[in-house]
Amino acid sequence: MNHLRGPYQEGAETLLHGEFGAYPSKGSRYALSLTQTALHIQRLVPKPETDQRTVVPLAEVVGCHTLRSRVPADQAAYFSVYAYPLKKRKVAVGSGRGRQRAARTFQVDGADDYEKNRAVAEKWATAIKCLVLGILISSETDVAPGLLPRRRRLLLLLNPFGGRGLALQWCQTHVLPMITEADISFNLIQTERRNHAWELVKGINLAEWDGIVAISGDGLLYEVLNGLMARADWEEAIQMPVGILPCGSGNALAGAINCNAGLEQALGLELLLNCSVLLCHGAVAPLDLVAITTASGTRCFSCLSVAWGFVSDVDIESEKYRHMGAARFTLGTLVRLASLHTYRGRLSYLPAADATAHRPISRSITVAPNGRLPLQRLPLHRALSDMALCEERHTFRGAEPAPTPCPSPGSPPPSSASALPPPSFSFQPLLGEPPATGTGDARVLGPPDDLLVPLSQPVPGTWVTVEDEFVLVLAIYPSHLGADLYTAPFARFDDGLVHLCFIKAGISRAALVRLFLAMEKGSHFEQECPHLTHVPVRAFRLEPLTRKGILTVDGERVEYGPIQGQVHRGLARLVTGIDRLKIATG
Ligand code: ADP
Ligand code: MG
Repeated sequence: MNHLRGPYQEGAETLLHGEFGAYPSKGSRYALSLTQTALHIQRLVPKPETDQRTVVPLAEVVGCHTLRSRVPADQAAYFSVYAYPLKKRKVAVGSGRGRQRAARTFQVDGADDYEKNRAVAEKWATAIKCLVLGILISSETDVAPGLLPRRRRLLLLLNPFGGRGLALQWCQTHVLPMITEADISFNLIQTERRNHAWELVKGINLAEWDGIVAISGDGLLYEVLNGLMARADWEEAIQMPVGILPCGSGNALAGAINCNAGLEQALGLELLLNCSVLLCHGAVAPLDLVAITTASGTRCFSCLSVAWGFVSDVDIESEKYRHMGAARFTLGTLVRLASLHTYRGRLSYLPAADATAHRPISRSITVAPNGRLPLQRLPLHRALSDMALCEERHTFRGAEPAPTPCPSPGSPPPSSASALPPPSFSFQPLLGEPPATGTGDARVLGPPDDLLVPLSQPVPGTWVTVEDEFVLVLAIYPSHLGADLYTAPFARFDDGLVHLCFIKAGISRAALVRLFLAMEKGSHFEQECPHLTHVPVRAFRLEPLTRKGILTVDGERVEYGPIQGQVHRGLARLVTGIDRLKIATG
């Protein structure tokens, strides 16, 4: 067995070692060592005491390609390593770009014959790609391209109006070049209206895709998940890995993914680049979904939160500052603080008896499934055109009834529904939906909510009920409420828990501000504020007793009234991209 230690990192097994030139060539030679976590590059210089080492953590690498010179006589082969190193941040969160592309090309010239050099270059490229994708290799592995899964094919759905409307621009300049380096095939479709993503996802042929990625805020991902759950084959459909590339104003899930990977809190383009790198790594982890039922019986699947009071008020009222991006929430918070409301309500829940606030980190990580037919890359202009949209429309199953994925009650029905063949249905507002939970209605898809009773009946005796004046009630499942709101630091994507957080009336404005400021670091529970409560639960019901108010599910407004939900552990699969240990030791 080869127990060769890496020369630069104590305890790290060297998987490959070699001496190469570089391109463009400046006459230098390099000794390269590949370990499980990093590519170590040592420039070979006459005076060995001068430090000429570079360590490229594989957590920052997205791909590696082999190349051949255009000069026929050149018998060398080349491989390029595409990295996006994190820059040291000198200024505040969100103000720096965070990452900058750094590609290095090495010249393999040990043999006189191109084929031999190519085999070496391919071995390095394969090994690097395996490590990026989390495919286990050791120094004993016979590294050959067969180890690699076939190219992933991703359906990218982009909301051109999300956040500050920069999604398309950022996608073209940053995301597409990067995922191309990661050998990802894609088809990019811009949504034309609310619920468009839901319609598309409901009709796609699952076999054509390895994942669906929402390029927007959390709202678009909500549509994707509910589109999958609205299919007759939901059980299979919801296994489709879903990802998010944050270009919205509310990027909670992206914030949670970023944090889960062990990365420093980031906003804006910095967060987008982090999430893009993670998408290239492609690891998938189970994601809890919470089935939410509202008074009219509509059922939808939520991946973030249900909010009432301060949080939902800020979210919806700050819509008018959308052009500000994430800053809209800061301004909205200030405005709301000035006229702080309290709401009377009854909150019932089924405590998760076995849950403690700080559970061990879930480490189940798998790589996206692969092994289907190779797909030709779609040229960008086509993928961006309406052609792709038209094709998708033909696959839409227009004859089925189309329950709405919980749009806001005030929102008009999608105007272009009539464009979908055949026009035998129309979208119904949320209030018009038939009762869903526990009725055995054939149209209600997804797993049964075995912990819930219909909203018309009292909650089961094992539940706890609190009736009080609240400043806010928040049922949150992942760790983040916004990219910079680390609201439930103990939450995991698949802990099977709803983290019920509520603040009761009586809290001072100053104390509330302190809580929200501390939330950026996730230290708000350390303040031991007597008005703030956190309970891990499996199911909950909220009955507003104040006549007017705003309720949101995943940041989108829903009908105001009694609402309940139950968690379905690990129902969906989220592209989380990387195991945090890799970064810690890289
Ligand atoms: P943000 O975080 O900026 O709010 P979201 O992705 O949450 O971004 O999108 C906001 C809302 O816009 C969502 O409810 C989504 O369904 C809706 N939406 C998606 N595509 C479009 C579109 N093309 N035009 C209008 N609304 C859209
Ligand atoms: Mg959870």
